[in-house]
Amino acid sequence: MFDRLRQLTQSHGEIRPGRGMASGVVALLLAVLCVLGVLAFHFPEYLTTPQLRRSYNVPLLRQLLYWALVLAGGTALFNMVFARVRWLSTLTFALIGLALALGGHQVQVDPAFPDGTPYIGLDWFILDLLGSALVFVFIEKLFPLRRGQPVFRPEWQTDFQHFLVNHMIVGFVLLATNLAVHRLFGWAVKDGVQAWVRDLPFAVALLLLVLVADLVQYAVHRAYHEVPALWRLHAVHHSVKCMDWLAGSRQHMLEVLITRTLVLAPIFVLGFSKEVIDAYIVIVGFQAVFNHANVSVRLGPLRYLIVTPNFHHWHHSQDTEAIDKNYAAHFAFIDHLFGTAVQSEREWPARYGVVGDYVPRGFWRQLWFPFTGKGE
Ligand SMILES: [Zn+2]
Repeated sequence: MFDRLRQLTQSHGEIRPGRGMASGVVALLLAVLCVLGVLAFHFPEYLTTPQLRRSYNVPLLRQLLYWALVLAGGTALFNMVFARVRWLSTLTFALIGLALALGGHQVQVDPAFPDGTPYIGLDWFILDLLGSALVFVFIEKLFPLRRGQPVFRPEWQTDFQHFLVNHMIVGFVLLATNLAVHRLFGWAVKDGVQAWVRDLPFAVALLLLVLVADLVQYAVHRAYHEVPALWRLHAVHHSVKCMDWLAGSRQHMLEVLITRTLVLAPIFVLGFSKEVIDAYIVIVGFQAVFNHANVSVRLGPLRYLIVTPNFHHWHHSQDTEAIDKNYAAHFAFIDHLFGTAVQSEREWPARYGVVGDYVPRGFWRQLWFPFTGKGE
């Protein structure tokens, strides 16, 4: 059974319908998330993110956990009865049993648990994985760019590991970037400027924030491409050869730290309100995933204004006309303004990845890659 599981997790490609494999995999994944969810109920001080924790509706989360258990169990039972992928169902049952033995959806949360402990963002990982998978796989099936590309495409494991780790270390990233922003840019804060920004209407402030953030992001991103030492960090992100909702997660954690600090700096200095920053976080969270998705969007003339997958896929291509182009993350006009927009006769690039393909495969090797002497 474990050999089969290893084979399954190390393979990629389309899951053929009608054999219970697709439903079996979904049930197993749900069961894994349920066990992790129960653990998060037991140890909220270490396994949940304080920023999320504060706004949780605990009864609702219990319901979610309960229905996830029912769905996973029901699917596994169905497959068991119809003699499909029995080994997968057995594993799923074992995990559901474990989740129930640990208290299932009825785990009591001690309301007086200590705040301010070091933590990993397990809840953020579970919720974002569930939400992103649901939303973006749906969009990718609805408006596919490459219809034949399966959800479990080559190297999905590597990108999934990046996704997992970058979510787990969310607490460290928040702490480190906040500290760095305050230390490095505290001197630039001017009360008059902040008062002016705070008086702006919501929509204007949000537009200004996204524009400022994208201008900084553009400069930082361009530096990643044009300074060789920085490129070695950023090359990890560019080594993806299959573009989809998970591909954007492949990002070196040091790059995440540097970029976030620099993009947050002007936001902090200008003193935007919490509501405006929250709205920006939703936008940047969506576009960071969506721009890499296996989706085709036709915006007509608006394509000169807003970044879509159609724009950002070119940034990841190996085609000569697209090297070091299309840097923007939100507003495409920034690249048109600075003369770095891709001009091509074709609608989509031919190949993705780094020219020369010298970035190693696998999460750990990619983490180490920028500090080694190999590659261009
Ligand atoms: Zn890039």
